[in-house]
Amino acid sequence: SASYLDEARDAALAFGDSLLGLARPRLRIGVTGLSRSGKTVFTTALIQNLVEGAKLPVLKASAEGRIARVRLVPQPDPDIPRFPYEAHRAALSGPDRRWPESTRRISELRLEIDYERAQGWFKGPATLTLDIVDYPGEWLLDLALINQDYAGWSAQAVADARKPHRLPVAAPWLEDLKARDPAGPVDEMAAEAASERFKAYLAALRADPEAVAVTPPGRFLMPGDLDGSPALTFAPLDLPPGVQPVPGTLAGLMAERFEAYKRVVVVPFFREHFARLDRQIVLVDALAALDAGPAALADLETALGQALSAFSVGRNSWLTSLFAPRIEKVLFAATKADHIHHTSHDRLANVMSHLVARAAGKAQGAGAKVEAMAFAAIRATREVRIRDGREELPAIAGVPEAGEVVDGEVFDGQTEAAIFPGELPQRPEAIFDPATPRWQVRAPRFRPPLVKPDAGGRIAPPPQIRLDRALEFLIGDRLS
Ligand code: GDP
Repeated sequence: SASYLDEARDAALAFGDSLLGLARPRLRIGVTGLSRSGKTVFTTALIQNLVEGAKLPVLKASAEGRIARVRLVPQPDPDIPRFPYEAHRAALSGPDRRWPESTRRISELRLEIDYERAQGWFKGPATLTLDIVDYPGEWLLDLALINQDYAGWSAQAVADARKPHRLPVAAPWLEDLKARDPAGPVDEMAAEAASERFKAYLAALRADPEAVAVTPPGRFLMPGDLDGSPALTFAPLDLPPGVQPVPGTLAGLMAERFEAYKRVVVVPFFREHFARLDRQIVLVDALAALDAGPAALADLETALGQALSAFSVGRNSWLTSLFAPRIEKVLFAATKADHIHHTSHDRLANVMSHLVARAAGKAQGAGAKVEAMAFAAIRATREVRIRDGREELPAIAGVPEAGEVVDGEVFDGQTEAAIFPGELPQRPEAIFDPATPRWQVRAPRFRPPLVKPDAGGRIAPPPQIRLDRALEFLIGDRLS
């Protein structure tokens, strides 16, 4: 396939370059996270800040004035949709500004960064080719399916749905399940109906905007371009324990489709896309999970653990026969830090570290260098102080989206609101402590900021919080 040719070409070039003592620098960065975590906004802001030469003090190459020019160039993979940067950038600016369409499938974009090397024998101009690949984090969860068979997966999905906290949402699907006989005839309509019900259940689990879904198949939540194809038309059945699906029955058909899903969807994604990434940023809406409470935090921890196990495949794992990831650095980043006052930014970063450490404790193996932080790719708020009786509280102000309600007032999308968003705990362990109150961050959805032109009529990229720090971790060493 194209990717193998690509790799072979890369290897040949790298070998040639190493003979010359000159690496031809190229870096492939993955941007992922569950739906609504902020992938589209981050990717757009990252490109805009680089291409438009924004001041990025923590990115050393930028602070030292060594970035000469950054440009968009044609991407290397003809079979991956291009990340629609221009459309997203346009959506975010001007009086009609709005948040861009979210990520629903994989896309990529290539940048070339002309910079000056800082030191060493090769001091002087150089170019780093940066590929940015944005894909739904839901797809990473599918890794857990690879070593499961249909009967095992089915039994687990049914058992999960019968757990008390899921029962209310799962009831319609469980009801439908009773009518599906695993030993019944192969029936396309029955398979479709069962699959629809099951997908509706998975979607309902996710319907709460703060829910963190951890239930694969990932494509049932984010089908990408495969919606409606047979590999996505299956569902668990209530097989008696110890019974394997029999070919020629409904369960046999489901089992075939389950295997097809792994073969034509899951393995190719990991082999052709995931395994080619050098570095990865995983975006996490930790504030939403904190807001939703302990069950959501526990779900988030599970999801992080699953992501971590994807990154650590290859250190003594049988999965290496299918794909060997080369990811060397992973950044777990809590997004939307502009929803809290800067006095809580470090605390949010600590919460993120704590969640990752807990997840890493359970995930097997480690390989990549892992870090955690908190940032806002686009800062939609400014900081103010508000009076509460005799106290002054550190607060934020921004324009809530039309229809958002703050303290009983309905906003029109034009008017600014100042709110005290609450504080995060000093000790991150407190988020799991049943004795402490819930750590709620009370922020409405804000509109993107309106950036006014400067004296020269130039419009700078929107303000951000610690985006430069994320960039320094992801690419800084390659611009030195
Ligand atoms: P995706 O599904 O991961 O691609 O998520 P998006 O990038 O589309 O982000 C989902 C929503 O989160 C956006 O529509 C915004 O409302 C919000 N959001 C994302 N990033 C930021 C940020 O940096 N600041 C603020 N205030 N909101 C953000």
